[in-house]
Amino acid sequence: MRAKKSLGQNFLQDEKVIEKIISTFSPSEKEIVVEIGPGEGVITEKLALSGANVIAIEIDERCVSLLKKKFESLENVEIIHGDILQSNIGEIVKKRCEKLGISLKEGEISYRVIGNLPYYITSAITRMFLELKQGPLEMFFMVQREVAERMCAKSGDMSILSVAVQYFSQPEILFIVPKEAFLPIPKVESAFIRLKKTPFFQKEHFTQEEEKLFFRLVKIGFSARRKTLVNNLSNGLGREKKEIEEILQDMKVSLTIRPQNIEVRKWGILMEKLRKFF
Ligand code: SAM
Repeated sequence: MRAKKSLGQNFLQDEKVIEKIISTFSPSEKEIVVEIGPGEGVITEKLALSGANVIAIEIDERCVSLLKKKFESLENVEIIHGDILQSNIGEIVKKRCEKLGISLKEGEISYRVIGNLPYYITSAITRMFLELKQGPLEMFFMVQREVAERMCAKSGDMSILSVAVQYFSQPEILFIVPKEAFLPIPKVESAFIRLKKTPFFQKEHFTQEEEKLFFRLVKIGFSARRKTLVNNLSNGLGREKKEIEEILQDMKVSLTIRPQNIEVRKWGILMEKLRKFF
């Protein structure tokens, strides 16, 4: 099939890489797996073989008709034609569970997500799944290597993206994939990553209101990467530098620290200390 660049179509063609993806993901019989952008179904068919209940959501009509034919005889594969960003995942999974006769405790659903993501909407997809109320237990994504590294960054290299991803999950780069594993060959290397949900993700620590404040604070904190945190917060919150400095001193944080040096938990403590200024 001729790949559509506009849909981020870089089809996996390296059988060894496909095998590695599947053995790392390790699907189990009867578990619910949502696949994003199945394309021609190279990952889908291996998931199906494991006996997992696969729900594959694909936007390209050409792929959808090919996939429907390919998996016609398999009851454990459902192909949905649609835009992942417009899909109500909670509802889709719930319906599937009902159909399979899986009883749900207080509407709780349990599923995992996998996808060789269309790169043009990697961030939007990741954000959507991270923020879902009935989110997946784990997400396994193929993304551009650089994006993966930014998601997994540590103190010194943090960005709004890494704070957001690490607020909701524990990200991990599982392995790097060479460009040649795809057709057409993209310009950059890829990485297969896992995002595992964390206690933060389960909203044990913050209320929704606090979570909003948290992200407002992070945005203000990163308003100018080259400036110190004190400067960014004092400008963004309209407070005297001295007031911010006192709080940082209290937290034993250097007054010259820059936003990229602050990891997620520190942002959480900062939010609690600064909330009176919002
Ligand atoms: N899984 C296949 C593979 O590994 O060969 C295809 C991966 S390709 C990188 C991305 C796939 O996502 C394409 O099939 C593309 O049509 C699909 N896609 C793009 N935008 C989408 C969207 N908004 N919703 C669902 N699928 C989408």
